Amino acid sequence: MGNNPADKKPSSTVNPEGTKPNPGDQGAPGTPGVGENVCRVCSGTGKVAGAECPTCGGTGVVLEELGGA
Ligand SMILES: [Zn+2]
Repeated sequence: MGNNPADKKPSSTVNPEGTKPNPGDQGAPGTPGVGENVCRVCSGTGKVAGAECPTCGGTGVVLEELGGA
């Protein structure tokens, strides 16, 4: 066995917390002016009709632009 240069390695942009953007997210975590908000689709339950909410990815929260006041 040897090192295979074609071996897939994790991207350097992997989020340490394993969070990934959801369809309902309007910005990346940590972006100024973007904050967590309760998902309007599932009302924060993370589920819709017994299934994982596709908008927030089952987290119950989405990242939305806060319209900086
Ligand atoms: Zn949701």
